[in-house]
Amino acid sequence: MPVAQRLTVAIVGRPNVGKSTLFNRLVGKKLALVDDTPGVTRDWRAADARVGGLDLTVVDTAGLEEVFDDSLEARMRRQTERAMERADVILFMVDARAGITGMDRHFATWLRRSNRPVVLAANKAEGAAARSGLIEAYELGLGEPIAISAEHGEGMADFVQALLPFVKEEEEGEAGEAEVAEPAELDAEAAAAAGLDLPAEPEPKALQMAIVGRPNVGKSTLVNSLVGEERVLTGPEAGMTRDAIAVEWSWKGRPVRLVDTAGLRKRARVEAKLEKLAVADTLRVIRMAHVVVLVLDADGILDKQDLTIARLVVEEGRSLVIALNKWDAVQDKQAALQQMKDRLQTSLPQARGVHTVTISALKGQKLDTLLDTVFEAYALWNRRIPTAQLNRWLKEMTEAHPPPLVDGRRLKIRYMTQVKARPPTFALFVSRPVELPEQYSRYLVNGLREVFGMPGVPIRMLLRKGS
Ligand code: GDP
Ligand code: GDP
Repeated sequence: MPVAQRLTVAIVGRPNVGKSTLFNRLVGKKLALVDDTPGVTRDWRAADARVGGLDLTVVDTAGLEEVFDDSLEARMRRQTERAMERADVILFMVDARAGITGMDRHFATWLRRSNRPVVLAANKAEGAAARSGLIEAYELGLGEPIAISAEHGEGMADFVQALLPFVKEEEEGEAGEAEVAEPAELDAEAAAAAGLDLPAEPEPKALQMAIVGRPNVGKSTLVNSLVGEERVLTGPEAGMTRDAIAVEWSWKGRPVRLVDTAGLRKRARVEAKLEKLAVADTLRVIRMAHVVVLVLDADGILDKQDLTIARLVVEEGRSLVIALNKWDAVQDKQAALQQMKDRLQTSLPQARGVHTVTISALKGQKLDTLLDTVFEAYALWNRRIPTAQLNRWLKEMTEAHPPPLVDGRRLKIRYMTQVKARPPTFALFVSRPVELPEQYSRYLVNGLREVFGMPGVPIRMLLRKGS
């Protein structure tokens, strides 16, 4: 087996983007400063870290700014040059909240010309305030920015994934293509120890399903019916830092893992107060899942909490399935279904076309259909569309509806490609990405959904500059 070598990563970027914050997060309490002797000019510090199964030496260059008093740009160059001497990869950090500055652009150009491996990180990416900064970051010409929040530990799995291609392996035995670990197989224990926002346990190959909904809709009843009494309920497992509980079984021969849900908690007689769905709890559950089943009461009430949960699922890029429970108690089934669909359509346009299954958790009705639907949603979430096919479709779409004129010039849409699945994420190359109206992106996303048969799939569209 080849052994992965330690990767040295230098964090560079203008002051205040969050370099030290990331350094501290990665290195954690085990901080082992190198060359940090008092009295010696500290122009960089380095420490070892293990993140998601990856051994890193992280070099923080933040201290260098105080060392020289010439222009900031000259200092940044010098700090980077120094760091480059010892780094395998440069992590160029920008501030997604502040947006891309002239200095960032200038520096990016210089980095691009240096021909060094660079990974672009857009920090402070938590929340909506970072959205436009993230899009701007594409224009730096350094590839897809990884969205992270050093302060909140978000995006660390993407961070690790972005670094994986640079890991060299020590030859032991026959040479072969470098085996790159899936982020799903990251070392969760180490990540948890470092307080990183990686999955709290090694992600199994099983479909990860969560059942959410407001109290009393029938979540516990559903869990019981699905899983049955004979199943093993697993408590907090070794290596888990969080009080997660899960249960595993298989469905038509395929493994399913039901992750931490209110229903499971109740079944495991975890304190009742945990049943209260704080947004933070719900988010945590959603992030653990591939497919989220939102249970609604068939009485037709769709309240704010239901909509909030559904919106979170879509925003987090998870696959959503809606279960209309207590269907056995509904008199006029046809009217009830229509009413619920209308309500969903008006209140939740993001989830247009989302699969809705009517069930009775109590009587065990339609649970087969529910699981079939969950697997179907999972397959679509994993969907990959060949580039040639995408671009044929794109041509038709842009011919039918050309992109608008901005300042008298027509925006040019060049090309499209799927950059990843889970959820399906597409990069669209546009002459002036910032100017492409939201409406036009939506036109394309809706078209993709329709033509390629992905109802209810949280499709993501990234705009990139392509000239
Ligand atoms: P450096 O000069 O690049 O090393 O930046 P610092 O690590 O000192 O961070 C600058 C400021 O940004 C500090 O106030 C941090 O708390 C803040 N900061 C760092 N990371 C984040 C983040 O992910 N989100 C937000 N909102 N603030 C952050
Ligand atoms: P939770 O709070 O979402 O976990 O909801 P529970 O599973 O505790 O169920 C709340 C109530 O709804 C209980 O009285 C259940 O018996 C009832 N219930 C759950 N599922 C169904 C169903 O499919 N049909 C009917 N008629 N009642 C149900």
